[in-house]
Amino acid sequence: MNESIERRIERLQTGGIIDMHFDLPMDLYEKRARRDVLATEFLPELQAGNISVLGAAIYIEDRYLPQNGLRVALDQIARLYAETAASQRFAICKSYREVQAAQEMGRIGFVITMEGVEPLGTDLNQLRVFYELGVRAIGLTHARTNSAGHGGIFAASGSPAEGLTPFGREVVRECEALGVIIDLAHINPAGFEEILLITTKPPIVSHTNVRRYYNIERNISDEQIKMVGARGGVIGVNSILVSPLEEESTLDHYIDHIEHIAELIGIDSVGIGFDFFEFIFRQWPESRQKELAAKFTKPHFIPDLTNHSHARNLTRRLIERGFSDADIEKILRGNWLRIFKELL
Ligand SMILES: [Zn+2]
Repeated sequence: MNESIERRIERLQTGGIIDMHFDLPMDLYEKRARRDVLATEFLPELQAGNISVLGAAIYIEDRYLPQNGLRVALDQIARLYAETAASQRFAICKSYREVQAAQEMGRIGFVITMEGVEPLGTDLNQLRVFYELGVRAIGLTHARTNSAGHGGIFAASGSPAEGLTPFGREVVRECEALGVIIDLAHINPAGFEEILLITTKPPIVSHTNVRRYYNIERNISDEQIKMVGARGGVIGVNSILVSPLEEESTLDHYIDHIEHIAELIGIDSVGIGFDFFEFIFRQWPESRQKELAAKFTKPHFIPDLTNHSHARNLTRRLIERGFSDADIEKILRGNWLRIFKELL
């Protein structure tokens, strides 16, 4: 049988692609004066890439903190709901059944996630509120320190040696009790270990890269990868921190990250967390781009993997590198679906 590569891509993509980290709510919030942003600015690329589920991440930029963290988070969720209601092509999913229902109806599902618990302040009641609003995965921190813990920094070492705060531990326990997935992306190494000690369910790392290829605390070490694998978790591979070098930031190197995780803990524990950010970055004035580079690191966007329509390039390259259909389907969606089925 000699199926053309285009037909094989088509067949593999038809079941959909799940990307567990996308900074969509903050962009919808910044564009809150406009209408139909989802349908006009995002839908064409999402459709072209056969995206079926997105982790829609609430993230609060420094300029809104501390006063407006809660308000901006609520507004981000409000925009996501309003934009979703305005189109027949999207659905907010709070359970595995709702993810399945969205797929059956041909809608792109959003699983709302939170990147950093700044919106909660130090009030556990707010966690219940966000749960009711649909938040189903939470990472305690971004790169900064907050009421829950410390973020891993964009250097090989140097974040505080301590793990979570008492509030951070309460948040983690309450998440497990409510049915909110714990996301280990960004948390510092001590916090990472502590979360695994006080939880029992499979954790996820929604978007990260491996330290073997880019050695910063924000990424994940072999030892950490093995800890996630031992608990049946899934790691989403990030597209913007695959290498400190621009010339090594390629689609092939992205796949090297997938391969490395699969070699350490098996193909059942690797998924996608593209973290496409170039569309936001290019809306910023140069001064702000420089600020970001100074505070964290200069992001190297992979030229043929900068937006969701490029998911096809990934599928093509996975085929060319010899991945089996079954393995490609696990990477593109199957492993995240297993997590949803087990935890949501
Ligand atoms: Zn992030």
